[in-house]
Amino acid sequence: MPTVPRRALCWIRRDLRLHDHAALTLATQLADEVVVTFVFDTTILDLLVDKDDKRVSLIHQSLQELDSKLQRHGSKLVVRHGDPVVEIPALAQALGCTDVIAGRDYEPSSILRDASVVTALGAAGIQFQTVKDTVIFEGGEMLSQSGTPFRVYTPYSNAWRGKFDQETCAGPLNPDLNKLVPAADLESHSSSWSFEDLGFSENSPSVPAGEDVGLASLDRFVGVVPRYSEDRDFPAKQGTSGLSVHLRFGTISIRDAVRMALSQDSKGADKWLAELIWRDFYQDLLFHNPHVVTHAFQPQFDSVEYPGETSWFDAWCEGQTGYPLIDAAMRCLLATGWMHNRLRMVVASFLTKDLLIDYRRGESHFARYLLDFDLASNNGGWQWAASTGADAQPYFRIFNPVLQSLKFDPDGEFIRKWVPELSMLYGKSIHWPHEASAMELGGANVVIGETYPHPIVNHHLQRDKAIRLLETAKKQ
Ligand SMILES: Cc1cc2nc3c(=O)[nH]c(=O)nc-3n(C[C@H](O)[C@H](O)[C@H](O)COP(=O)(O)OP(=O)(O)OC[C@H]3O[C@@H](n4cnc5c(N)ncnc54)[C@H](O)[C@@H]3O)c2cc1C
Repeated sequence: MPTVPRRALCWIRRDLRLHDHAALTLATQLADEVVVTFVFDTTILDLLVDKDDKRVSLIHQSLQELDSKLQRHGSKLVVRHGDPVVEIPALAQALGCTDVIAGRDYEPSSILRDASVVTALGAAGIQFQTVKDTVIFEGGEMLSQSGTPFRVYTPYSNAWRGKFDQETCAGPLNPDLNKLVPAADLESHSSSWSFEDLGFSENSPSVPAGEDVGLASLDRFVGVVPRYSEDRDFPAKQGTSGLSVHLRFGTISIRDAVRMALSQDSKGADKWLAELIWRDFYQDLLFHNPHVVTHAFQPQFDSVEYPGETSWFDAWCEGQTGYPLIDAAMRCLLATGWMHNRLRMVVASFLTKDLLIDYRRGESHFARYLLDFDLASNNGGWQWAASTGADAQPYFRIFNPVLQSLKFDPDGEFIRKWVPELSMLYGKSIHWPHEASAMELGGANVVIGETYPHPIVNHHLQRDKAIRLLETAKKQ
């Protein structure tokens, strides 16, 4: 009797690529025939505030590229639109799959979703397997000597480096694309995924999407990485990789990034590796401490009542605080969906310690606009800046936004780009126009209070208030 070929469904989520693909590789190892699917998840899409959210366009572009690549191998991408807890079991059954394989996702809501998918598939006699893909070490793999999860980055990083050996990600995981099911067998299984049918309108992101661009960007960065340590803090320079969006959606693999870092013998590459380890650290932290999604990591800070005014929050969001570097950074976020790491730290500190506004409001604003938004890194970054996190900035160490500006945008180049109404100011005045002479302001066509706002708060006074507020909470 001829044996029935074993068919697997590879459900892609945060791995929108074909190369070095853990789930697809496992699927092609396990099964004789493999179908690749993506679900436009209505439980996520329905929560997006903007119906022209750039991330939907980014995913759409990446999937179009992926679909073309699958078509070149005679297959196609099967796209569904709905709740994956319903769509994945229905599709797996309709296609006669015995297995569903996906990359593991460590966000609490994804863990719950996957548990429901396991149950629904199990009822149909279909196995669901997830495989590590988005991190080098996942929750549970990295424990301190006392067997507990890490709470501080440096010992985590040391342990990460100690545990890592070249075999951990020796070479790319290459799926056998000869096992893909022919497109003709899949036509009737895909839903329409036009923007209109998804309920969104196209809004091209500022960074081009897809696996090819991701790999090219990683290649370009090889020439930049030796200077990473020196240049990474200056937002006007292209000193960082700009790869966060690709790492977020998996249009490059974290293993490719780590392999690149390790193949370079430079201080810059080692520092860059340290940042990739921060990414693993925050995933680990979220996995072991899911309460951080809604609560402060350090519970004593949950009781803080932040007195900041709503109008200040609005001014921060719109880049109208009267602090040029803050305004430049916030306007850059709105326009491009990206913000430099130094600026994320400075604006987050400013919101929580100068405007005395709950970090969760800033976290949500970033979640709405960042193309690279990732719950673990965003929450980790915000709790770091707010001093409520695991390995946070001490509450009494508060960035002075003007000194940060002078230090990291010394010529005002970044400010000039995003706050054009100040572009004719030079020297210290572009960083702090409020003390510029009337003649200087007049010559630059700046009228404080008209063409550019007065500072909404006084940094020195607010700093003292923040320290008192957080000191009281800390003592509790
Ligand atoms: C308040 C705040 C919010 C943040 N929100 C996010 C977010 O939603 N998504 C996100 O990917 N990063 C976030 N970060 C981390 C960091 O700012 C971005 O990863 C970085 O700016 C992306 O630019 P890049 O790719 O050029 O980084 P590079 O400097 O080239 O670093 C390489 C990669 O390492 C990782 N990485 C770098 N720094 C960090 C870090 N501090 N924490 C975790 N991973 C890091 C990223 O994947 C990044 O792409 C946040 C930081 C702060 C302070």
